[in-house]
Amino acid sequence: MNILVINCGSSSLKFQLIDSETEKVSAKGLCERIAIEGSRLVYTPAGGEKMIFEAPMADHTIAIQMVLDALTNDSYGVVKELSDIDAVGHRIVHGGELFSEATVITDEVIEAIKACSDLAPLHNPANLIGIEACRKLMPTTPMVAVFDTAFHQTMPEEAYLYGIPYRYYEKYKIRRYGFHGTSHNYVSGRAAAMLGKDLADLKVIVCHLGNGASVSAVKNGKCVDTSMGLTPLEGLIMGTRSGDLDPAILEFIAKKENLDMDQLMNILNKESGVLGLSDQFSSDFRDLEEGYLQGKDNCTRTMKAFCYRVAKYVGAYVAAMNGVDAICFTAGLGENSGVIRGMICEYLTYLGFTLDQEKNSMRGKEIDITTPDSKTKILVIPTNEELAIARETAKLV
Ligand code: AMP
Repeated sequence: MNILVINCGSSSLKFQLIDSETEKVSAKGLCERIAIEGSRLVYTPAGGEKMIFEAPMADHTIAIQMVLDALTNDSYGVVKELSDIDAVGHRIVHGGELFSEATVITDEVIEAIKACSDLAPLHNPANLIGIEACRKLMPTTPMVAVFDTAFHQTMPEEAYLYGIPYRYYEKYKIRRYGFHGTSHNYVSGRAAAMLGKDLADLKVIVCHLGNGASVSAVKNGKCVDTSMGLTPLEGLIMGTRSGDLDPAILEFIAKKENLDMDQLMNILNKESGVLGLSDQFSSDFRDLEEGYLQGKDNCTRTMKAFCYRVAKYVGAYVAAMNGVDAICFTAGLGENSGVIRGMICEYLTYLGFTLDQEKNSMRGKEIDITTPDSKTKILVIPTNEELAIARETAKLV
């Protein structure tokens, strides 16, 4: 089956066409600056050159129409006609407590995704626009919603409740949901395959370290805790997001700097994290790593604080699962930065492993970076959220 995977943001749209039998990507690309001046489609067919089409895209329907035209084009397309696309898999950020697994999209499902929108006001409406646009252009093609939150729905109450009045959970469903679930699910599954063991017998910690970053504890194949919360702001120090902090800091800064809640949230989401800690030096870990290796103070304190926080979460999740068999690194810097993996692992050697420094310097491929005598395994596993969405979609249609 040809599965079109769509990840729709407010002004951008990423896509991949995946053959679910061979699991190969036939074409992939990105629409940028939708409904903004300077919009363009970047399109790469498998084995072909990257192409850039600059054209106005007044809305997401026009953007998706351009994607479908490219996919079915006589010279650079990868399918003959639209009906060769068998199904569409949509990445949806928030499924609240309503969705604990992927689901075929119906009118009722769309209403339920809308109902979760106040939990993810920036993401769910954009995801819904992508669904509506695809339904308009491919009215008979089955579609599936795959939720970032779904994998974490197995967390026990003690892990997802906050220490605030219980009525807020009852009234507004304020609780930990967690994100990056598709990645945590995929990577923990790959960990079991790499170790040649059944996931149902393993305790795995997944560190998804990208611009957004989260850690999860996966016990016997089920998520039992994760670092992101009601929103993706909680947990690790991220590119521009603060992660955990004392909630009273909000009031303190608000009074000192005369800021309202919107301004504060903007600071915590966009000006904090490693960007803020490095004194606005960079949110990109390649820059920070370079600065750190050159001995720059702002980069050193930032890298240390980032790695310390990751190690602290790993320690907490060893406790949550009463042990761990494998710790997995994935996403942009988890897959690529041996320096960061090394700094995090320095805190964790009590778990009984030795890093193989040569293996740790490799990047972007599945590899066990510990010595053979290590009791706990440290694995690097490139994530593949699109493939995971395509698999879920193929399974349901
Ligand atoms: P993601 O959000 O998963 O795309 O990850 C983006 C982050 O990964 C950015 O902060 C990048 O700087 C970081 N990254 C990508 N490649 C490397 C690398 N070779 N070394 C360090 N960080 C990297």
